[in-house]
Amino acid sequence: MYPRTRLTGEERIVLARVKQRNDRLRRAARTPEQIELDRRTRHPDGTKHCNRCGRDLAFDQFAPFPREPDGLYTHCIECKPPADRTTQGAEEAGSLDYGRFID
Ligand SMILES: [Zn+2]
Repeated sequence: MYPRTRLTGEERIVLARVKQRNDRLRRAARTPEQIELDRRTRHPDGTKHCNRCGRDLAFDQFAPFPREPDGLYTHCIECKPPADRTTQGAEEAGSLDYGRFID
């Protein structure tokens, strides 16, 4: 059997997911200096656009989020939901009860 050259649709989706995950892990592993550099490259004017309120704000108005390409949360601090309402925040706050999934 010779190697196939075409991927099935399902294989393509799996590959895309693996790639996304690797990108995320690679971004999360950056040093603060690298993150700062990437941030400057992405936002040369020194501000970031909040996807929710639509304002362009200084970087210190966004919570740090190393997985993002620019190391900042997508929404500004004002628009960011209270920590407990996100999975990550709930994990940090220790209020996510995994026990409820177990019978
Ligand atoms: Zn906002």
